Amino acid sequence: MKVSLPKEAVDKIAHEYGVTEEEAAKAFLDAQDKANEAFRQELYRTFAKEKAADHDDLIVFTPKEIKENLDKFVIGQEEYKKRLSIAVGFHFAVVKHLGNHPEDGRIKRFRKKNTLISGPTGSGKTYCVEVLGDILKVPVLTVDATDYTEAGYVGKSADDMIRELIDLAPGNNRREQAQFVCRYGGMIFIDEIDKKAKEGQIIGHDISREGFQRAVLKLIERKQVPIENPNSPSVQIHELMNRKKEGDNKQTDSMISTGNILFLLGGSFERTVNSLDSIVEKRLAHGGNVSEDDTPVVKGFGWSPENQHQKQLQNYYKQAEANDYIKFGLLPEIVGRSPIRTFVNPLSKSNLIRIMLDTKDSILDQYKVEFGLFGIDIEFTPNAVDYVAELAENLKTGARALVSVWEEILTDFQFELPGSHFKKLTVNRRLCERPKDVLLEMIERSPFLDYIINFKKGHGVDLVIDEEAENYVIEYARQNNLQVSETLKNMLLGATALGFMNVKETFHITREMLQDKKYFDNLFTNWYQEQKPDKS
Ligand code: ADP
Repeated sequence: MKVSLPKEAVDKIAHEYGVTEEEAAKAFLDAQDKANEAFRQELYRTFAKEKAADHDDLIVFTPKEIKENLDKFVIGQEEYKKRLSIAVGFHFAVVKHLGNHPEDGRIKRFRKKNTLISGPTGSGKTYCVEVLGDILKVPVLTVDATDYTEAGYVGKSADDMIRELIDLAPGNNRREQAQFVCRYGGMIFIDEIDKKAKEGQIIGHDISREGFQRAVLKLIERKQVPIENPNSPSVQIHELMNRKKEGDNKQTDSMISTGNILFLLGGSFERTVNSLDSIVEKRLAHGGNVSEDDTPVVKGFGWSPENQHQKQLQNYYKQAEANDYIKFGLLPEIVGRSPIRTFVNPLSKSNLIRIMLDTKDSILDQYKVEFGLFGIDIEFTPNAVDYVAELAENLKTGARALVSVWEEILTDFQFELPGSHFKKLTVNRRLCERPKDVLLEMIERSPFLDYIINFKKGHGVDLVIDEEAENYVIEYARQNNLQVSETLKNMLLGATALGFMNVKETFHITREMLQDKKYFDNLFTNWYQEQKPDKS
């Protein structure tokens, strides 16, 4: 293929960046390729968006397809992933069907598969939903219940969730976005719903918590919500002007129904007293019947260390029933409207290891990318991964602990290595146990790295300095109160001869070579002698 290059542009690049004509031409073509790609993507984004906004062929995923995708990112939690995949797969299939055939009388009342999820913190409840958000073409919103209040007089109101969901929908303006949600639905995951449960005695607090639950209940059941926040000044002025013009008629397209939105309610349901698992445990201890007055269970003769251990292994969330959630403090109507109830398990050490090694966007991959951006190749040994999993498991905050443990270990490396001569970092167990010591040792050894790099630049030979040789230099410098870099330079003065000798392969420097002041002189003399016969 013949490529024509504008000579003027190439010359300009060559001049501006002080590069050869050839380099400038290559850079010109690369930049042009990238610009063309960006142009193509922008067009695609514009039209794909419009296509989604005005069209009815959103893909319906089967539960199996959804789960296969979740499996790439989320380790374990099989039951939860399955239940969620079914709820989501079926929900959006029905929404699409009803959108295309609103007259289908077989589904008179669409009973949604709203889902209630319990289980320990940091175990994948929210993460699964986030992953779904990347796969599904409908908007998916994750919110924290504690950010919202019943009527929004202090924080955000429950209705604001719907408006936030609309923000995520495709469309050229707010009306189109709202229409999209109305037509194709969306999904809202309300995390920490347990923090809005009634706790019995504290009346004031509980009224507002119950109020929030009631507000959510209305959304779950089906509610018309204004697509703009009615309290915002601009909306109020707009409303006033419209009323003057059109009498008191409410504009219907300024409202949205929550009918097609799937709700997921999640929480750890942990509490010092009366946590969900203790409620379930009590019920089970009574053969399924807890007395109404909630008499505490007396751990009598049945108690033993083994039983206690059994108890720790048991995941009571698994067996939580509707009544247990109600007893915890959720409104019976909320529980009733969430027909799917599922759970996550605490993550074991082996789960944590797999989360680090086998998931698609694992934290170790992230570190590889991050260090790579500074030209550093980081690798993790299996022992290091094992050690971190153990530390994280003990922190009891699920996979979240992995991030904090790794950050604690790698902080100083993240600060010191970028911009230095270190181009490789092997994270082994010793580094994890004593990061500061290892970093100090590395810094102590950095003159060696500097020397090797400069030697390669100056004489074209790759040196490898043995650990014993390094220790010898460090010790010698310490004893004589000298700089390591100076000592090394002096000891290896004769090594410059390697450049003349045209050494092609890597050259290993040993302790003996450093101790023998005449080593490189002799090496050079011998080499020189060997050259002679050839020349004669
Ligand atoms: P919660 O259960 O409290 O909602 P998250 O789902 O937000 O916890 O988990 C916190 C983070 O931990 C996630 O962003 C994800 O990186 C990681 N994580 C948690 N559980 C898993 C899991 N089972 N598999 C893979 N990563 C997980």
